[in-house]
Amino acid sequence: MRCIKCRGKAVIDLRRHNAAFCREHFVEFFQGQVRRAIEQFRMFGPDDRILVAVSGGKDSLVLWEVLLHLGYRADALYIDLGIGDYSAASTEKVRRFHQQRAAPLGADLHVVSLKAAYGFDVDEARDRVRRPPCSACGLSKRYIFNKVAVDRGYDVVATGHNLDDEAAVLLGNVLRWNMSYLARQWPVLPGGRGFVRKVKPLVRLTERETAAYAVLTGVDYIVEECPHAVGATSHVYKDLLNRLEQQSPGSKHQFLFQFYQQGRSQLKVEERPDLRSCRYCGQPTPGDVCAFCRMTALLLDQLEQPGGGAAMDSSPAGAQRSTPGAPVSQAGPAAAPEAEPASEAGAVN
Ligand code: SF4
Ligand SMILES: [Zn+2]
Ligand SMILES: [Zn+2]
Repeated sequence: MRCIKCRGKAVIDLRRHNAAFCREHFVEFFQGQVRRAIEQFRMFGPDDRILVAVSGGKDSLVLWEVLLHLGYRADALYIDLGIGDYSAASTEKVRRFHQQRAAPLGADLHVVSLKAAYGFDVDEARDRVRRPPCSACGLSKRYIFNKVAVDRGYDVVATGHNLDDEAAVLLGNVLRWNMSYLARQWPVLPGGRGFVRKVKPLVRLTERETAAYAVLTGVDYIVEECPHAVGATSHVYKDLLNRLEQQSPGSKHQFLFQFYQQGRSQLKVEERPDLRSCRYCGQPTPGDVCAFCRMTALLLDQLEQPGGGAAMDSSPAGAQRSTPGAPVSQAGPAAAPEAEPASEAGAVN
């Protein structure tokens, strides 16, 4: 197998591109695909300040590495979710990557501990309120990424979602014909009204390609998945799409990019609801109190009263409280969705 660029020994073949590359030309190809996505979807410009949402996994660390390599002003934010050994190992990978690869290029790493900043972690959320861990986790991540980006003046938050992730989300939305999520599925979520813009620069690259880039460039990442990801429906969709790809290389890309180019334009994007500032933290919300503050209040009540239900007079923890003592726990655990659909904001990879 020979590299199509230099005829040297190839280290990877990409059937969907009918191509094979040596190490040097694969790295060049990969970075070119990231640059192409940034330009194709007008994600950001050379002067924008980017906050990369890193988890310690391959996708987000590779994204940070490539953006720095391409000369962008890219800092990162890591949230310690308090998920047992998984979070401990992830924290170590992120800190080491920062020390060895990002700090020498002048990039900062922000770390927020969910427990230290807001009084609970994802495992406690799972144990104390009847809320699936991924629901509490996803809500917390979306909230903290936006808050840190807005507070610290970043122009855009970049996440490591790749072609496999986005094609799986599309398949899930198509299977349910979820028209409002389909209409919003796009690699750029516009900012404004208190929300920072969110972008997915790895959308042209597969999981396999990202893993290969990590190995070939020495990006050390946590290989284990979050324990709460076991059995996720997205794995079934990814598996189905991979089987299709095996039979018909390029199918995944066709499925997603034909949707971007043709399908999505037929759909009407619903207006976002009117937003106001959360009474406690100031973040945008369609109601009086944002979903994160409602969840936080409920969780803290449960943590303080192990045997009982939610107290009526607790207030959200963490971000600036303006009026402590309001009966926010009446909102209950099934908090109303915020203005951004979870399927789009997604988890950090
Ligand atoms: S699988 Fe992802 S969203 Fe779910 S708890 Fe783990 S990190 Fe959070
Ligand atoms: Zn080559
Ligand atoms: Zn709030």
